[in-house]
Amino acid sequence: MAFKPANNIQDLQYFGEFGGVNPSISDSSTYTFLSAKTMFDTFEGNADGCYLYSRHSSPSNLYLGEALAAMEGTETANVTASGMGAITAVIMQLCGNGDHVISSRTIYGGTYAFLKNFTPRMGIDTTFVDITNLDAVEASITENTKMIFCETVSNPLLEVADLKGLAALAKKYHIKLVVDNTFSPLSISPIQLGADVVIHSLTKFINGSSDTVGGVICGTQEFIDNLRNVNDGACMLLGSTMDSLRASSILKNLRTLHIRMQQHSKNGLFLAQKFEADGLKTVYPGLESHPSHQLFKAMMNEQYGYGGMLTIDVGNLAKANELMELMQKRNLGYLAVSLGFYKTLFSAPGSSTSSEIPEDEQKEMGLSDGLIRFSIGLDADIQRTYEMMKACMVELDVLS
Ligand SMILES: *Cc1c(COP(=O)(O)O)cnc(C)c1O
Repeated sequence: MAFKPANNIQDLQYFGEFGGVNPSISDSSTYTFLSAKTMFDTFEGNADGCYLYSRHSSPSNLYLGEALAAMEGTETANVTASGMGAITAVIMQLCGNGDHVISSRTIYGGTYAFLKNFTPRMGIDTTFVDITNLDAVEASITENTKMIFCETVSNPLLEVADLKGLAALAKKYHIKLVVDNTFSPLSISPIQLGADVVIHSLTKFINGSSDTVGGVICGTQEFIDNLRNVNDGACMLLGSTMDSLRASSILKNLRTLHIRMQQHSKNGLFLAQKFEADGLKTVYPGLESHPSHQLFKAMMNEQYGYGGMLTIDVGNLAKANELMELMQKRNLGYLAVSLGFYKTLFSAPGSSTSSEIPEDEQKEMGLSDGLIRFSIGLDADIQRTYEMMKACMVELDVLS
C-alpha cells in the first residue's frame, strides 16, 4: 500500500495535561526527581519517560520529533535549532578523522561550505559529484567512505536524486545514505526509497511562516540515541537544541503542511507551465522537459505534487535584479532568500544562497548568473499573479 505521510501525522493523538487539544509546552530547562537513583539512571539513559535537562530532550521537542518521524516513517527523530544544526550533527556523528564523504555538488550553500571548508580541518575529505550520475557516485567510493549526502531536489538547480539507485549503492558498500528532504516534504519519502537518515530544515515549508529557524534528523532509534548520548553524541555535545516554545509552534504549523504543499505545488506547476509556454528557460520537476520528470513521478506521493520551487533564467544578473525589484514593488512577492512562505519569495542564487560556491564551480554545475529561484506562495488567484508577473517581464524586455 502507498505510504501516507499526512495520515501518519494526523493519527498521532496528544493532549495537554489539563485536557487541552494541544500538548502543554514544557517551559523548563531542568526537571526534578523524587529519587536520586532515578536521576542517575536518566543520566545513563536507562529511565524512559524521564527528563533530565532540556539540551538532552524535552516533552515539547519529543512531540514535534514524533510527528516528523511519523511523516518520514522512521522510528524516531531529533529536532534541532536549525537545519544546519541537523546537517552538521549528522556529519560529525557519522564521520571522523580519515573518513570520506560523497556529496552532491548541487546542495545548499551552507552544507557545501561546511563540507568544503570546515570538515577538512577535522580530517574529513569530501568528493563532490554529479549526483544524477550513479556511475560517477560509485566510482568515487573508497574504503574510507562513510556517507553519501544529497538533497532529494537540489538547491538551487532542482536536480532530482535517484534515491533508490543511491540506496542500492549505499547498501552494497555499507555506507549511510543521508538525504536532505527540505524541498520536498510529503511529496517524497526518502526512507521508503531506502535512505538511512532524513534531514529537514524546518525553517522552510514545514514551519511555513518564516518566523523561526529549525531542523530535524529522522532515523532509527539507535542512531538518534547515539546523537543524544551524553558522552559522544553530536546533538547533545554540539548543543544545537531547539527551544520548547518553538517546537510547540512548529508542531501547530505542521498540522496544515499537507494543505499548504498542495497549494504550493498547484501554483508552482501553473506558473512553470505558463513561463515555459512563453519561451522562458524554466526548470520545474513537474514539467515534461525536466530531465528527471519521470524519476520524480516514480518516487512521489502523488497528491502533494512537484513542490513550490522553480527557476527561470533571464540571461544576466542585472536583468534578474531588475525583474525581482519590480516584482517586489508590485507586491508579487519578496526579494528574500529562504522558501516555503505564504508569499512568493525570489532571489538570485549565484549572488546569495549559493555564493559560497566559487564562480568557476557555479558555471560548471550550470548555475548561471541570470538564474532566479522562486519559492511560489499560496496565492489564491494564481492566474492574476501570472498576468502581473508577465507584465513585469514584458516591461523589462525579458519577454516580448
Ligand atoms: C535552508 C536550507 C538548509 C539550512 O537550514 P537552516 O534552517 O537555515 O539552518 C539546508 N538545506 C536546504 C536544502 C535548505 O534549503
